[in-house]
Amino acid sequence: MSQETLSNLLQENRRFAPPPELAASANVTAQTYEEAAADRLGFWERQAERLTWAKPWNEVLDWSNPPFAKWFVGGELNVAYNCVDRHVEAGLGDRVAYHWEGEPGDTRTLTYADLQREVAKAANALLELGVRKGDRVAIYLPMIPELPISMLACARIGATHSVVFAGFSAEALRTRIADAQAKVVITADGQNRRGKHAALKPTVDDAVASTPDVEHVLVVRRTGQEVAHHERDVWWHDLVERQSTEHTAEPHDAEHPLYILYTSGTTGKPKGILHTSGGYLTQVAYTHHAVFDLKPETDVYWCSADIGWVTGHSYIVYGPLANGATSVIYEGTPDTPHQGRWWEIIEKYKVTLFYTAPTAIRTFMKWGEEIPARHDLSSLRLIGSVGEPINPEAYVWYRERIGAGRCPVVDTWWQTETGGIMVSPLPGVTEGKPGAAMRPLPGIVADVVDDQGQSVPNGGGGFLVVKEPWPSMLRTIWGDDERYVKTYWSRFEGMYFAGDGAKKDDDGDFWLLGRVDDVMLVSGHNISTTEVESALVSHPKVAEAAVTGATDPVTGQAIVAFVIPRGNAGADVDGEEFVAELRDHVAKTLGPIAKPRQIMVVPELPKTRSGKIMRRLLRDVAENRSLGDVTTLTDSSVMDLISTKLPSAK
Ligand code: ATP
Ligand code: MG
Repeated sequence: MSQETLSNLLQENRRFAPPPELAASANVTAQTYEEAAADRLGFWERQAERLTWAKPWNEVLDWSNPPFAKWFVGGELNVAYNCVDRHVEAGLGDRVAYHWEGEPGDTRTLTYADLQREVAKAANALLELGVRKGDRVAIYLPMIPELPISMLACARIGATHSVVFAGFSAEALRTRIADAQAKVVITADGQNRRGKHAALKPTVDDAVASTPDVEHVLVVRRTGQEVAHHERDVWWHDLVERQSTEHTAEPHDAEHPLYILYTSGTTGKPKGILHTSGGYLTQVAYTHHAVFDLKPETDVYWCSADIGWVTGHSYIVYGPLANGATSVIYEGTPDTPHQGRWWEIIEKYKVTLFYTAPTAIRTFMKWGEEIPARHDLSSLRLIGSVGEPINPEAYVWYRERIGAGRCPVVDTWWQTETGGIMVSPLPGVTEGKPGAAMRPLPGIVADVVDDQGQSVPNGGGGFLVVKEPWPSMLRTIWGDDERYVKTYWSRFEGMYFAGDGAKKDDDGDFWLLGRVDDVMLVSGHNISTTEVESALVSHPKVAEAAVTGATDPVTGQAIVAFVIPRGNAGADVDGEEFVAELRDHVAKTLGPIAKPRQIMVVPELPKTRSGKIMRRLLRDVAENRSLGDVTTLTDSSVMDLISTKLPSAK
């Protein structure tokens, strides 16, 4: 982004007040912002008291060597004990921790007491395999109960886990195993994907052929498909099932490494983010309580993310379990065996709190509102979004079609690096604005600054930064402190720079505008891809849009857009007339400066495996360059399809 701040084009005036009943009994009230601002460290100290500590801390925050933070210094706790055992000890052993639903329709219910036994057995099994405190374990599993069980077993014995999304290639897995020097890999024979058995074990065999640190591969039988057997392999059902259900959890230091997780790879090569124990668990537990207004006795919570992403780590495993919540886990894809599967699950388990991503919401818009309308979604009381900026139209669709116009939508901004939610409405306090993530949560000091690092006034745009350390912040990039400092702490003196652009509206609320790398400079104006995409999605025939800036001899950069029509848009969506209609629609919504030079109607967009649009690849195509890192791309044929649609780039 240049000297100028981001042009502020989008006007979105719809407002939604918190439902009065929710506000009346909300977990967090407006007063909390003041309390946290008056004594930030005291606030976080009170949140840490949600957890059970074996040894109290003697200092809340050690920031003597920035940007290397230590939280709850001297404190000791066991993360798995906090997520499981203490609830059983409190008499809640019969409460369901997970309603698990397999793609083929098989189910498993795990109470907290069940989970305690399973985690103890898995911890004993890892010990038998020679895993010790401080060792790394790679986990390459589908969305089956053994995935959270494995993570908790690692946490319990102090091994650091590195979960790798079970859709990644052997090469992606190999580099992650090698980077962490994992000693054991936990995997499955295969997984259920769209009614088929997709093999996993051969990918692991491939990956570990050249990772000499791996001593054992622990294999869960999920699909029953045939697998090659190597000497290092051991079946989960042989090893884990015969273990004792007793295991004493030793406390670990508050700063003990809990896990390494690689970022999604939307903007480039993924980074191995390190999270530790006490501060991380404090913030994910607090934010899950505050943002979702969780009432663990009565709520049924479902986060549809994959546990292979940070959203799953923090808001399927650690946050909900630390709070003693009842959650749903679903193994498969949303359209198996039919496009209403998710809504069927909400109806079946009477889900009250639901958390998903804009990419999913836009897919459902594309499929049509009659699909969710066939299901009883009246149990829902709050719905959330994470992963990308949510287009106002997608927000309103989500609120109306899924939330019956009744449920507040919480748009939560955060990253793998932040570990937990940072900017979000509080459902009982904050008025909802479609497309705005609103305010930094209590205890979080975030701001929007210009390129000199000065806070922008209300109405201005710039860079989203965090100005004070927070408990669940990344501690470093695994094995590369220098890259950690350079990537996050060097753009602005003393501030964490997240890489995202944002604007403040007249009330001072934050609107995320996408990656600053994606901002386009058109005839001297900085225009965010997000705003142009949202304008396109606000057209009734558009389900999804991706926008990028391509070099242009006249305007510097020109706006190039790719759109996917809605299911009910009719047959005439490929013609020139439709494209002209969309260009005019953008001009009318945002102003003539934002009118795209080109609009391509496409069947698919390039996305990361976590579902985010990879605009950098579209820019590569639009500017006729060879593609950058594509290892995190879902489907590379999408790029070929798109290239043929873009004659001017050739
Ligand atoms: P990489 O860092 O490898 O490029 P990534 O940034 O996609 O990948 P994640 O940590 O999964 O990896 O995603 C965090 C990013 O997702 C944020 O920086 C932001 O761009 C986007 N994001 C997440 N939630 C929101 C939200 N509610 N509104 C806007 N953007 C969001
Ligand atoms: Mg990122």
